[in-house]
Amino acid sequence: MEIISGKSVFAGIAIGRVMVWEKENQSIKRTHTEDTQAELERVKRASEKAVGQLEKLYEKAVKEFGESGAAIFDVHQMMIQDGDYQESIRHIITTQNTNAEFAVATTGDNFASMFSGMKDEYMKARAEDVKDISTRIINILAGKEERTLGGEEPVIILAEDLAPSETVQMDTGKVLAFVTRLGSTNSHTAILARTMNIPALICVEFSNDFDGKLAIVDGVSGALIINPDEATLREYSKRIHNDQEKAAMLQELRGKETITRDGKRIKLYANIGNASDVAFVHRNDGEGIGLFRSEFIYLGRDTYPTEEEQFQVYKTVAQNMAGKKVIIRTLDIGADKQVDYFNLAKEENPALGYRAIRICLDRVELFKTQLRAILRASAFGNISIMYPMIISVGEIKKVKEIFGEVRDGLKQEKYPYGEVEQGIMIETPAAVMVSDDLAKEVDFFSIGTNDLTQYTLAIDRQNSKLDSFYDAHHPAILRMIQMVIDHGHKENCWVGICGELAADTALTKTFIEMGIDELSVSPSFVLPIRKLVREL
Ligand code: PEP
Ligand code: MG
Repeated sequence: MEIISGKSVFAGIAIGRVMVWEKENQSIKRTHTEDTQAELERVKRASEKAVGQLEKLYEKAVKEFGESGAAIFDVHQMMIQDGDYQESIRHIITTQNTNAEFAVATTGDNFASMFSGMKDEYMKARAEDVKDISTRIINILAGKEERTLGGEEPVIILAEDLAPSETVQMDTGKVLAFVTRLGSTNSHTAILARTMNIPALICVEFSNDFDGKLAIVDGVSGALIINPDEATLREYSKRIHNDQEKAAMLQELRGKETITRDGKRIKLYANIGNASDVAFVHRNDGEGIGLFRSEFIYLGRDTYPTEEEQFQVYKTVAQNMAGKKVIIRTLDIGADKQVDYFNLAKEENPALGYRAIRICLDRVELFKTQLRAILRASAFGNISIMYPMIISVGEIKKVKEIFGEVRDGLKQEKYPYGEVEQGIMIETPAAVMVSDDLAKEVDFFSIGTNDLTQYTLAIDRQNSKLDSFYDAHHPAILRMIQMVIDHGHKENCWVGICGELAADTALTKTFIEMGIDELSVSPSFVLPIRKLVREL
């Protein structure tokens, strides 16, 4: 038995035989030609045929994965027809008197290295796409038929990398998983794999000798297990069985509304800590992101993340959510989340100390950097901002003033930005008690029941000795939630819950009766809660 670890881009478990997919070796010969007009004509015809193939792939993918899953084939068509791309091919043929194949391959390589040198992760990922379209045109020039993946028996595909056009041609019934040496979390291959609902690993250093061997892909821990022993096989078979039973029942709820029998609808969003968690949101059909804990960007590093670094993360999330709501909570550092480079003084009571919005209002430049990054990313999706640990109207007024300055600055610098809703977390008794006034200032409230319970019951949420006293169903908490909902609604301010209590199925009915508008939970809870709501 051999275990190789990699990075999971989509969870799940698969057991089956390995098929090592090797790309055909395309060695392109450069030949001299006097008849450049004929080569230009060949490129024109091959490009048209390639666009035709992609149109068909687009139609097939739309049926299977919907428009967002198929969009890449639209993008590929545009890339082929792109003026710069075609002009580069034409220029090489006419100035160097070369054959069409050489001109297309050289253009593909040049464009790919230009894309991979870019800082923007999204643009970087386009390097693979331009190689993919060039290969398609070259294959047509060479008279080769399109290749498809997946044989008679279902297999685990191991490949150096997989172009989106290859993955979509997989017969999903015959492909159990895919594992690649290269690839990025943001590549379309990864995005498509998530849409296709098959486990996928990247960055796996496998050997081509694995071809035909029995393997397990563990997309939960990110491992490829070759020649598993009996006990491991038994364990994983059991896990697959359990997963299948649960998933089959829940999958029927994908795309369905989260609505009670008597027509009460709520928004069912998911909580994430980083950009790669978006995969879980999609897998579980989250209707949006109700809490992006942005402080995770600041943790586990030695320096402050720059505006550009943050912008890339927020933009990736916004783009991957494709127009669905993404609520980014500003920095909530301090208390249990300590970061050395912040140089925070030691405190007697850190949970009651210098944390979250208090740091942001004190270190305004740090706050402005984050707000600029979020606002810039708002041009790429449906982003909202949420401020943590607000206790007074004065604080939110100050926050909005800073937000206004940042937005004016971006406007002057001609950065685009979108319409951004602003909301606050309600996680202190003070915020609950003045929620009638706070509601006049913001678009939404999201109740952070983890901290609200800690501060209301005076119980340290970190102290496991107090677990038996930490009663999140305490009437004080439930009455507070009701109060916040009522105050919010009076001022047209929608109200959600993003603390762990939101996923407590014993309270789902109660929350709906209270008039809650949104629940934001860990992605894996989305479908179980939708099921429950629809049965109410
Ligand atoms: C909360 O306090 O309920 C909350 C959602 O925020 P965090 O758990 O990150 O403090
Ligand atoms: Mg909190």
